[in-house]
Amino acid sequence: MTVNRNIYMSDELEAIYEQTVAFVANEVTPVGDAWEETGQVPREIYKRMGELGMFSLRVPERWGGLGLGPLASATFAEALGTSTFAGFEANILVHTDMALPHLLNAGSEAQLEHWLPSIQSGDTMMCIGVTEPDAGSDVAGLRTTAVPDGDGWRLNGTKTFITGAVYGDVIALAARTNPDDRYGISMFLVPTAAEGFEVARKLDKHGWRCSDTAELVLNDVWLPGDHLLGEVHRGFYAAMQNFQNERMVIVGMGIGAAQVAIDLTNAYTQQRKAFGSSLYDLGAIRQRMAMNQAQVDAARASMYHAAWLAEQGIDATKEMSGVKAFGAEVVNRVMYDCMQFHGGMGYMRESTIERMCRDARILPIGGGATEVMLEEVAKRSYVDI
Ligand SMILES: Cc1cc2nc3c(=O)[nH]c(=O)nc-3n(C[C@H](O)[C@H](O)[C@H](O)COP(=O)(O)OP(=O)(O)OC[C@H]3O[C@@H](n4cnc5c(N)ncnc54)[C@H](O)[C@@H]3O)c2cc1C
Repeated sequence: MTVNRNIYMSDELEAIYEQTVAFVANEVTPVGDAWEETGQVPREIYKRMGELGMFSLRVPERWGGLGLGPLASATFAEALGTSTFAGFEANILVHTDMALPHLLNAGSEAQLEHWLPSIQSGDTMMCIGVTEPDAGSDVAGLRTTAVPDGDGWRLNGTKTFITGAVYGDVIALAARTNPDDRYGISMFLVPTAAEGFEVARKLDKHGWRCSDTAELVLNDVWLPGDHLLGEVHRGFYAAMQNFQNERMVIVGMGIGAAQVAIDLTNAYTQQRKAFGSSLYDLGAIRQRMAMNQAQVDAARASMYHAAWLAEQGIDATKEMSGVKAFGAEVVNRVMYDCMQFHGGMGYMRESTIERMCRDARILPIGGGATEVMLEEVAKRSYVDI
């Protein structure tokens, strides 16, 4: 089914959408099963995407990028979401839209000059390192420390659930620099090759199987002073700002996937004969799928609207949080119904919908759990009485 483009879509964004959908259809979907087995996305794919300019959408033109905004990220995420291999999509979006914004928004000229060429080519893959075993939703509770040491910093601590970090190259990592202030956190660029940096464990997951997820230990990692990103002690606020983009693309990839799931299910139920007709001709099925379509359309429209607000420089925290909460739940309801209407076949490992269902489950948890997102909406919804 063709998705009608929206009012925010320019010719340029439409071209990005079409190019990305074609790329994943040709180079990801046919081979993704093998990546799921190994738990790794091959480096060549990253390089290929880099060559095609897919890692340059948000990079300013003076650094060789396209200088586009949140609408481009939403478009890219939705298009990637059609691959049906959300683990692959997660690794890409962590690089382009969850980690890179920290560098783009806070990096010095020298840092941008040093890092951007290889990040855009796919030779350097980025990760975002915020979560710790004892600090997830409560980011300000993180315990990893960075203390001044010579003309640099000494880092110690543990991170967990870090996407892409088993095989990735550099992590935008949050560490406490002011022990007396709960929000005294700074962001650092931590190369995974740094001495004292260790992947303690490659984690085994319910879904996103081809995405590598790491538990990390930083044991006396020394970083030169120019690996501090942005202002010292201000990293918590930078991270909160950058989370808006992260939340948007998580929903974007889910919406792309949900649309594919609906299309697959409608096709399956149309050809599946039962009760003298097809499953799709049963009102219980076609009406539920029609409602699913309406909800995906609503989630998509609200995501692009929030992206547009952000693109205008308007604080869209309330809208983006609502989109994350609503969109992630919608995607999971859609996946549930799609598996249901595939019957027993939907429960089989060989069916696409089985993988998509597992992959979708992380969406209401990662990058801001639904309950946390709803708090963000609620605290901005007080009415003067
Ligand atoms: C596959 C995967 C990939 C990930 N990738 C990354 C990554 O690349 N980088 C990174 O830094 N992190 C990453 N994460 C971490 C992810 O963002 C966290 O798991 C998420 O923020 C939730 O934190 P937590 O797991 O510690 O859950 P907790 O904070 O312990 O929360 C558990 C549950 O309690 C509820 N809850 C929490 N707070 C509230 C509240 N205030 N009000 C009401 N209910 C609440 C929610 O239902 C939540 O799911 C990843 C996680 C997974 C599973």
